[in-house]
Amino acid sequence: MNNILPFDNVNQGKIACITGANAGIGLSTAYYFASKGYSLILLARRKEKLEEVAHQIKSMYPIDILLITLDVRNEMEVSKAFSSLPEAWNKIDFLLNNAGKAKGFAPFQEGNLAHWEEMIDTNVKGLIYVSRAVIPLMMNKKRGFIINLGSIAGKQTYPNGNVYCASKAAVIALTEGMRIDLHTHNIRVASISPGHVEDTEFAMVRFDGDKERANIYSDFNPLTAFDIAETIYFMASRPNHVNIQDVIIMGTQQPTATIVHRNGRVE
Ligand code: NAP
Repeated sequence: MNNILPFDNVNQGKIACITGANAGIGLSTAYYFASKGYSLILLARRKEKLEEVAHQIKSMYPIDILLITLDVRNEMEVSKAFSSLPEAWNKIDFLLNNAGKAKGFAPFQEGNLAHWEEMIDTNVKGLIYVSRAVIPLMMNKKRGFIINLGSIAGKQTYPNGNVYCASKAAVIALTEGMRIDLHTHNIRVASISPGHVEDTEFAMVRFDGDKERANIYSDFNPLTAFDIAETIYFMASRPNHVNIQDVIIMGTQQPTATIVHRNGRVE
């Protein structure tokens, strides 16, 4: 789970906004950035879970946290939330577009339309809405860094991955587009594309809570959410003239999207 890091106030006064912050990679990144002194804007739909996360983080690190409870698929709510941020919170330095999901795992010809809509609306349109709302705030500051959560699925299409893979390929293309359009505004843009990551709700969400189908990490050692948080912080903490644009990060036993050496949890 989350490694406990000592507090280091090196980013005092900086604000990081993390979408999908109450579980998995977003949650781990929230802890990591809190430990490095960032003030945090944490966003997700499940309010109680978000409040519990904020409570836990604050009990460990003396930082300020603002919670935004909304669905990134709702453009009106997204633009309203970011355009009405209190003055002390509208100078966002860092955005992690992390809210996202896979739903289902079926051949295209048997695919579930509702699953497809949910993935495209969250992974692609939600990311677009949040970015479009936050970028003007970064432009006002003449500085910022946006990291988009891609996936190895966006680089290597795999059987039954079809629409999830397409949504993550779109994240990579959007990252490239934002990078090109924003570089003259001193705003850095990057993507990170992990293979399998545990300590997340990803598989349970994909398989609609079916524990048996979601049991996909027991016979190999995947990445942890902490591994991704640590890498995201590394990217964010490079000097301002350095923009790591794209990272592919895989567990050692998983060289590609489809090849996993399931020979036990090798440490
Ligand atoms: P997770 O544990 O299920 O976390 C997803 C987060 O997104 C939760 O905080 C969830 O909170 C939030 N969320 C989902 N739908 C939302 C919506 N419509 N509006 C606002 N927030 C929403 O999954 P994860 O594995 O950490 O995934 C994070 C990102 O990493 C995703 O983009 C995923 O595609 C990507 N990724 C994951 C893996 C992996 O193996 N785990 C690998 C590669 C890439 P609420 O439900 O409360 O809204």
